[in-house]
Amino acid sequence: MTFTQTERSTVRRLPARAGYDRATAYAILDEALIAHVGLADGDQPFVIPMMFARSGDAIVLHGSPVSRLLRSMKTGLPVCVTVTHIDGLVLARSAFHHSMNYRSVVVLGVATVVEDLERKAELLDALVEHLVPGRTADARRPSTKELLATIVLTLPIEEASVKVRTGPPLDDEDDLELPVWAGVLPLRLAPGMPVADGDTKGATVPAYLEAAARFRG
Ligand SMILES: Cc1cc2nc3c(=O)[nH]c(=O)nc-3n(C[C@H](O)[C@H](O)[C@H](O)COP(=O)(O)OP(=O)(O)OC[C@H]3O[C@@H](n4cnc5c(N)ncnc54)[C@H](O)[C@@H]3O)c2cc1C
Repeated sequence: MTFTQTERSTVRRLPARAGYDRATAYAILDEALIAHVGLADGDQPFVIPMMFARSGDAIVLHGSPVSRLLRSMKTGLPVCVTVTHIDGLVLARSAFHHSMNYRSVVVLGVATVVEDLERKAELLDALVEHLVPGRTADARRPSTKELLATIVLTLPIEEASVKVRTGPPLDDEDDLELPVWAGVLPLRLAPGMPVADGDTKGATVPAYLEAAARFRG
């Protein structure tokens, strides 16, 4: 299934790298840990990094009621959520053709506040599960006080686009004879060894941390 392309969701530069496939977008979103959330507050655009999750066909965002971004989104201001993975540095023979391999998604729309406490709790579970699948089985669920102190918003994933670059540098023909190394330095996000906090008593490292390591490794 593909997203309906709109004037403002159409990638213009290097459109061959663009796509509007829902499954591709969801794979990129589900692997990412942060989203950059942008909106214009008056004349000033703000782009703020946030954790997020995908719940069905929506992006879930949460935070403190005093956060500027969440307060603004609550009023129905349009937002732009961008998620990016860097897969490699592309080193060409010419400075001009240096680039990156990446996968990115941009979602445009208006977020809606979730008021129902049960639904809020479910979406907050989704945020925790997005960080480490399996974690909600162990973590204490939010109290009513905590739920009331948290804004939860959902943004429909309907007006969205994908852009992906893969492969080696694209040097000019004339530069191919230059005695310069060219290629790709692959990059990936890799988890380190879990470090228990000072108050962890009688609990071993959970198995799902192993699974999380495999997922992102
Ligand atoms: C890691 C990374 C580094 C990049 N570095 C550069 C750079 O240095 N210079 C540069 O010019 N471009 C860079 N790009 C590409 C950049 O993101 C835009 O795609 C590009 O500027 C083309 O914009 P446009 O004028 O065609 O579209 P715009 O008019 O800017 O955007 C129109 C619509 O296209 C869609 N769109 C645009 N870009 C993306 C994207 N990356 N992913 C998903 N949807 C998108 C959105 O829906 C947007 O609303 C980079 C991309 C990534 C992921």
